[in-house]
Amino acid sequence: MKLNEVLKNDTLSLSFEVFPPKTDASFDSVESAVHEIAALKPAFMSVTYGAGGGTSQYTLEIAKRIKQDHGVPTLAHLTCVSSTRQSVKERIEAMKAAGIENVMALRGDLPQDRLGEDRSAWDYRYAVDLIRELKEQGFCIGGACYPEIHPESPNQKEDIKRLKEKVDAGCEFLTTQMFFDNNLLYNFLYKIREAGITVPVVAGIMPITNANQVERAVTLSGSFIPQRFKSLVDKFGNDPSSMKQAGIAYATDQIIDLFANNVTNVHVYSMNKPDVAKKIQGNLSDILGK
Ligand code: FAD
Repeated sequence: MKLNEVLKNDTLSLSFEVFPPKTDASFDSVESAVHEIAALKPAFMSVTYGAGGGTSQYTLEIAKRIKQDHGVPTLAHLTCVSSTRQSVKERIEAMKAAGIENVMALRGDLPQDRLGEDRSAWDYRYAVDLIRELKEQGFCIGGACYPEIHPESPNQKEDIKRLKEKVDAGCEFLTTQMFFDNNLLYNFLYKIREAGITVPVVAGIMPITNANQVERAVTLSGSFIPQRFKSLVDKFGNDPSSMKQAGIAYATDQIIDLFANNVTNVHVYSMNKPDVAKKIQGNLSDILGK
């Protein structure tokens, strides 16, 4: 099922993100975690794509199995900046053969070893280049957006202008980078709607379940960590089970506030942790009607 249909809901709907195995040896354990998450019957599941190619081969396989074995709509991620036109063409054919209908079209992080090159010669410089190509092939396309600005953007106005170009090129929905202060999202939504971006925006929520994750999350996304969340880490950071409980409660609270403010689609970066996905869904059971 195409996600532009799935995202039309006015009730709360949750989706979950998983990442593919890095090696053959870990395939079975990832697959079993993915099956447990899919059994929760989320609105959809997304499967990430390794920018450097390390785990790319498994993205399709995992996405295909989620759809076939559980009937859960899938969103296969695809990055382009390290790819050639030919390799993307092959990937598109493989996605079609696997019955993938929804693609998250991403640039990916810039390859550090190629930063000195003349980028005008690259096959893909930005996600919009990939979006144009995928659009011709009939996929339902999603794009990434950044309530706290993409780290390479000079300012939010410029970032939103580039985001509008992605939507005009064919993005039918957007998923946000993680954020820990909902006001940042509300402010962002106001600005993008004002800029004429009307597609559904899926809010990305990362449940932080251990103290080390905080530093990684900040390095990765540059996200602002509110004092209320810092206090949780200070209090429970050295006590893993309490930290996990507090992190899940914080994410649950964020989701309830989002829905109370009419944000109906929430994507949980539960990352191959079925227990976290189950707890969040359980905390919201009455609101979700599940
Ligand atoms: P773009 O939309 O191309 O934007 C990148 C930067 O370029 C921005 O600063 C933008 O403002 C600017 N820009 C865009 N177009 C132009 C233009 N024409 N001229 C000048 N500037 C321009 N990474 C992975 O490797 N695998 C994944 O599976 C993955 N999944 C993700 C899912 C989500 C929801 C998010 C938010 C991120 C994900 N990422 C993933 C990370 C992503 O690849 C990085 O954040 C990357 O740096 C930017 O990708 P993008 O698609 O947003 O790029």
